[in-house]
Amino acid sequence: MYKLLKTEGRAKRGELTTVHGTVQTPVFMNVGTVGAIKGAVSTDDLKGLKTQIQLSNTYHLHVRTGDKLIKELGGLHKFMVWDQPILTDSGGFQVFSLAGLRKIKEEGVTFRSHIDGHKIFMGPEESMQIQSNLGSTIAMAFDECPSSVAERSYVEASVARTERWLKRCQAEMKRLNSLDDTVNKQQMLFGINQGAIFDDIRIDNAKRIAEWGLDGYAVGGLAVGESHEEMYHVLEQTVPYLPKDKPTYLMGVGTPANILEGVERGIDFFDCVYPSRNGRHGHVYTNKGKINLFNKQFEKDMSPIEEGCGCPACRTYSRAYIRHLLKAKEMLGMRLCVMHNLYFYNNMMEEIRDALDEGRFAEYKKHKLEGMEEYDREKRK
Ligand SMILES: [Zn+2]
Repeated sequence: MYKLLKTEGRAKRGELTTVHGTVQTPVFMNVGTVGAIKGAVSTDDLKGLKTQIQLSNTYHLHVRTGDKLIKELGGLHKFMVWDQPILTDSGGFQVFSLAGLRKIKEEGVTFRSHIDGHKIFMGPEESMQIQSNLGSTIAMAFDECPSSVAERSYVEASVARTERWLKRCQAEMKRLNSLDDTVNKQQMLFGINQGAIFDDIRIDNAKRIAEWGLDGYAVGGLAVGESHEEMYHVLEQTVPYLPKDKPTYLMGVGTPANILEGVERGIDFFDCVYPSRNGRHGHVYTNKGKINLFNKQFEKDMSPIEEGCGCPACRTYSRAYIRHLLKAKEMLGMRLCVMHNLYFYNNMMEEIRDALDEGRFAEYKKHKLEGMEEYDREKRK
């Protein structure tokens, strides 16, 4: 159940109560694609990084290790040893972006596994069955994510099909949640708004699915090549038509600045691979902007990545030492950077929630954005 605690403009401060505990929003979901955060970060580590919820990937877990085996072992929570909420994506995005030779029909999509090339069929029912086997807290509806440069006629037909698929997802989840041997009988379902960059298609779709009583609503198909301005525009147009008393989720977004802009436009949930991917390459976030620890300027820098940061990397180690580890290709260097970045994101979400609680989000956002440009300003001097 979602409770809207406070608003500031369109920004929402809420909490989502689930069978695996309560999530305070706005929240960043830490992306554990195949059941772990890339960068050798354990579930124990995540507890020290202010992580509230993880995201795992239906397609990846289905093609490797397999959801049936994970169900047999007690579900994904037990398998990963994580007792807080998990959201699983539907697999749709990966089917349409990763898998080769796909064929879309009304029933679903036939495609080849990117691991061994074997043929797989996935439609709304299959996606719900896989997510039910994993036993995630929140399942995502199976959708097609049309390209941001797709023709209008293609997008119209795709969105209409995705709506029909959403109805089928709802019916299948209801059936699965009623079965005796289901891992999580209280699994929630989020629907997904699509429509590329066509305002009217997105708005019509949002109005329709808002009536269908889903547990939450995502805005999908953004951050796939359109500009930041186009993304913000779509949010401004679409989010007002999604129910305010349900959580909203902006899929796959984004940079700290994107998140601040998303919160301002009414988004509760975010997920993105940036903090872990950048961390693995020695790029770390600070309140003055992102830095590359491989740079020679940090060779003798005995200060932490960020002064005052409460993460395990900054509490103990210096920029110089982490740089040395990265240069020596020691896994610890990568791990410390990923942990710092996840902490940076999760901590920023906590700051956002505090600011919303105290009615000073607009001021916080302005200050945070200005601060994060400091290194860039210095470089330009
Ligand atoms: Zn840190």
